[in-house]
Amino acid sequence: MTPGAGPRAVFRSLWLDEALASDRGEAPPLWGDARVDVCIVGGGYTGLWTALRIKEHDRAVEVAVIDADICGGGASGRNGGFVLSWWAKFSTLLKVVGADEALALARAAEDAVSEIGEFCRRHGIDAHYRHDGWLWTATNPAQRGAWASTLADLARHGVSPFRELPDADVARMAGSPRHLAGVFEPTAATVQPALLARGLRRVALERGIHLFEGTPMQALERARPLRVRTPLGTLVADKVVVALDSWSGALPELRRAFFVVASDIVATEPAPEQLEKIGWTSGLAISDSRLLVNYYRTTRDGRIAFGRGGGRLARGSDIGRDYDGVSRRAADGEAHFRRLYPQLERVAIERSWMGPIARTTTGLPAFGHLRDRPDILFGFGYSGNGVGPSCVGGRILASLALGIRDEWSECGLARGPTGLFPPEPLRYVAGRIVRAAVARKEADEDAGRRPSALVTRVAALAPGGLVPVHR
Ligand SMILES: Cc1cc2nc3c(=O)[nH]c(=O)nc-3n(C[C@H](O)[C@H](O)[C@H](O)COP(=O)(O)OP(=O)(O)OC[C@H]3O[C@@H](n4cnc5c(N)ncnc54)[C@H](O)[C@@H]3O)c2cc1C
Repeated sequence: MTPGAGPRAVFRSLWLDEALASDRGEAPPLWGDARVDVCIVGGGYTGLWTALRIKEHDRAVEVAVIDADICGGGASGRNGGFVLSWWAKFSTLLKVVGADEALALARAAEDAVSEIGEFCRRHGIDAHYRHDGWLWTATNPAQRGAWASTLADLARHGVSPFRELPDADVARMAGSPRHLAGVFEPTAATVQPALLARGLRRVALERGIHLFEGTPMQALERARPLRVRTPLGTLVADKVVVALDSWSGALPELRRAFFVVASDIVATEPAPEQLEKIGWTSGLAISDSRLLVNYYRTTRDGRIAFGRGGGRLARGSDIGRDYDGVSRRAADGEAHFRRLYPQLERVAIERSWMGPIARTTTGLPAFGHLRDRPDILFGFGYSGNGVGPSCVGGRILASLALGIRDEWSECGLARGPTGLFPPEPLRYVAGRIVRAAVARKEADEDAGRRPSALVTRVAALAPGGLVPVHR
């Protein structure tokens, strides 16, 4: 038995509640046996983009997508909706894949942001797409210049995707003077994430992709052809693409290549007049520069969705449904929101939810196939930055699944995991210690205290998340 999501989630994010209000359709589970060319396990962005790309390459390929829950029931229907490129991760890309590949991949991720908007327009998906950019800010003095080394690396390679802004402009754009400084990346966008996931699902159905929801993979039999066992039937396939992100521990070979950590979001009641008053009417994606990152944006109905990374660590790799439900850190998220937006003190928090993030040692996702098994593919580990990059991931996985040699299947991220974490229980114990040090360091910095040398040293062991760690 391999780990999996088990029974479906009963609790939904605000985004999914909204999306499902106008889209009640649910594909029936797999019943009996079926034969396809490619079986994709996981119906989030990665699985759906991969399925769609395969069909773009060759309409005759029979593709099935199975999901334990519904498509978008995982991180894809719960995230902050920041559609970011990989420019902020350029320094890490340089180290991992070298300059040429780093530039190519970062450009591909930038293109993906526009491509998602274009895809939505072409297919009539109203995912509230707004191409208003990303503000990467400092909300305490210690965070000032957190972007400097990334911008220097970019400049050395002849690119300048970020605009350096006067401090006053940053505060004005963010709608609060608590934003002390920042840089702006105009190519980023925001979406209502679940509407994007459900839109991809609709287009997948229109393209003739077979969809089975409420269908967890219980076991992957490594025969040839492969056999994906589910509760009521078996899918027989030449290729299997495991697109499970935080549930990727279903392949034991991947278990040490990532760890799972919660990201939590609180959402306010609609307050469009108050947003108007503080001048925050754009669709900007905003984040600060901590590792336990605060990320926030407005919604079409005038709410603020305020997220916080670096939450609860998973023990082991079988997360099941542990990351469903209301946020267990809602009070903490609300405290950070109140600190950054004191002018919105009367705006009530109405909802909270959480979801799992798969973090790799580099903060970059990994794609590839199992050793000696080119028929078993995987893509996971976006480390909190997967909405845009999963569109690139779909291209990589489609080329790998079809055996096409091109810039996607041969790119630097298609060579499998680039690092391993220690085995359990060491990973969990060490992770707790490092996380506590990061939290302590960042609380000290908020309070204007200098963190101790020990705390700083231990915190520096943390892998990068939505924004990279600078050492
Ligand atoms: C709270 C939160 C905020 C985030 N904010 C952002 C953001 O603002 N911007 C950004 O770029 N990224 C963000 N992310 C990350 C982003 O959401 C993910 O990188 C992205 O959604 C990953 O997509 P995926 O398809 O790979 O995985 P998922 O969407 O998690 O899909 C995996 C699917 O696999 C299914 N599954 C699990 N087990 C089984 C099984 N055994 N058999 C079959 N199916 C199974 C699940 O039900 C799920 O639908 C955030 C994530 C969270 C949780």
